[in-house]
Amino acid sequence: MTYILELKNLTKYFPVMGGVFRREVGRVYAVNDVTLSVKKGETLGIVGESGCGKSTLGRALIRLYEPSSGQVIFDGEDFTALSQKELKERRKRIQMIFQDPYASLNPRMSIEKILSEPFELHDVGTKEERQVWVRELLETVGLPAEAAQRYPHEFSGGQRQRVGIARALALRPDLIICDEAVSALDVSIQSQVLNLLVQLQKERGLTYLFISHDLSVVKYISDRVAVMYLGKVVETADAAALYDQPTHPYTQALLQSLPVPDPRKRKEFVPLQGDVPSPRNPPSGCFFHPRCPKAMDRCKDEEPLLQIISAEKDHQVACHLVDGATHGTAEAQS
Ligand code: SF4
Repeated sequence: MTYILELKNLTKYFPVMGGVFRREVGRVYAVNDVTLSVKKGETLGIVGESGCGKSTLGRALIRLYEPSSGQVIFDGEDFTALSQKELKERRKRIQMIFQDPYASLNPRMSIEKILSEPFELHDVGTKEERQVWVRELLETVGLPAEAAQRYPHEFSGGQRQRVGIARALALRPDLIICDEAVSALDVSIQSQVLNLLVQLQKERGLTYLFISHDLSVVKYISDRVAVMYLGKVVETADAAALYDQPTHPYTQALLQSLPVPDPRKRKEFVPLQGDVPSPRNPPSGCFFHPRCPKAMDRCKDEEPLLQIISAEKDHQVACHLVDGATHGTAEAQS
């Protein structure tokens, strides 16, 4: 199995400062002991409600936020051990596409300038070569060459996101982190941009980490999916297994909101109640227990660990309901 990315016990917390002397009085664990791996050429979807830590995870793995502990192994190299100079060089191979293309594109810069910037930052090519590459990038994402002379405000949201994708592609990365990359777009435009991402993946052998709160979008694009809750991964599986046999009560509740074309296939899961607790003060035991319709006494005290319930489907679940279960048919599915 070739993994291009492995996260090993990755943790990112933010200190909470207080008191007269501004000392650390607490910690907010945005990403809490996450272990995940991504195969070369696949799309791993990361889903969860707002505030579950999925975007922090994306930023911590490329050290936009320095991880507090754990390791990020990218193509066999420990990313967390790199010097700033080495990191700058390696970051060419991992790029990000952000949610709001308007906010991530400098409104005072022409598209030519925006797309030339990655080459300039990494001192790649001459001015003439960069001009050629910018036009090639625009063509790759379905925009005309004349777009180079225009400014971000002259484009629609979908076109701006195409510019964002072109910028991410500029340095020919291996891995792209798509952070809510289509969430700000209309549904019809979303599908165009998703299809473009799928096409580029096939043509360039790209690997995607696709972060989104939208389970329909994640289902469409992902080969495997990891579900996060309060900074932890609670379930991970290949996409078909996760959507057909969601096993963690949180995943089941999230999927409750998905439209099902055939009502006979609708599963009767209990919808999610209440809000996500504060990550500064997470519940004891299983973090999900105050909202879980299947919580038992032990859930308040014992933290469930991720365990394999089907090796074939790469299916792991962190829930006491599946303790000892293997190969799929877990009690929690009922
Ligand atoms: Fe619910 Fe308990 Fe499973 Fe947590 S461990 S999801 S509280 S049943």
